[in-house]
Amino acid sequence: MGKFAIQIKALLENCTNLRVSGADYIWSLKLRCTACGESTQKWHTVNPLDTFPMAGGKGKANLIIKCKMCGRSNSVNMCVDFLTAYTSEDSEQFKTIVVVEGRGIEPYEFLPNGEFVCEGTVTGTAFKGIALDSGDWADFDDASNLPVGIYDCNTQIVPI
Ligand SMILES: [Zn+2]
Repeated sequence: MGKFAIQIKALLENCTNLRVSGADYIWSLKLRCTACGESTQKWHTVNPLDTFPMAGGKGKANLIIKCKMCGRSNSVNMCVDFLTAYTSEDSEQFKTIVVVEGRGIEPYEFLPNGEFVCEGTVTGTAFKGIALDSGDWADFDDASNLPVGIYDCNTQIVPI
């Protein structure tokens, strides 16, 4: 079983505590079979609230897929106890926001197309419904009369 860190990097303007909306955030991942190297190029969605029994009584997983090439049954688990916010101090550096466990599988790309939330740095104004798949997001904080934004959002997945 391998563990992988999903990391993001972005420039935060007048906002902080950027994080996924909750434990039910649906993760969009590209996956590679570690046995045969097959990667499907399609996005798989993983809901941490879904659990499926693994073959042979090996416990449960959030996603089980059978590799089309080698026929192995592979699984993915999101470690949502490790959900971490990206703060203004992290700006422009990669930071781990969640850990993924892969059994027979390696996640290699993350698309941040689900709902993120953040807060105004000084005001604490809550911003919701943030999608980062285009890389940028901008709004206005009425409490501080300042623009807020998230720019140049990049993602990477690294083995840990
Ligand atoms: Zn395979």
